[in-house]
Amino acid sequence: MYIASNNSHKGLRTSITGFTMNDRKDTSVKRMAQLLQQGATMLADGCPKCGTPLLKVGDDIYCAMCDRRIVYASSDEEVETRTVKELLPELKETLLIKLRTLNVLIERENDTEALTKLANLMVLLLQALDKLKRMNA
Ligand SMILES: [Zn+2]
Repeated sequence: MYIASNNSHKGLRTSITGFTMNDRKDTSVKRMAQLLQQGATMLADGCPKCGTPLLKVGDDIYCAMCDRRIVYASSDEEVETRTVKELLPELKETLLIKLRTLNVLIERENDTEALTKLANLMVLLLQALDKLKRMNA
């Protein structure tokens, strides 16, 4: 991208000029600008290697500075989602076991203070169970 050196572009020209001290950086900035013009979007995340704002080009995440595709963000997220999903039935079972235990404890308990604590815990467990149900456990 060529920036005309007239006054109307002064601010932009100055910021671009700052990068020309480093040829590689200059090239990557030009590449970024080009990609943005072509409809790429700049992401809030920086490149894990160099910190340059990542670009979303189609379905790809791309670092103009390293000139490479970044796959970590989406794949990490996918892995995490999958792991949590696999854990859900187990969590549900644990919650149900705890609720059963809690039920017995509440039945035996006569102290108001202790009952309040147990009841609060039960509400929390039920909320967690409800949340799990909404996550399709
Ligand atoms: Zn990078």
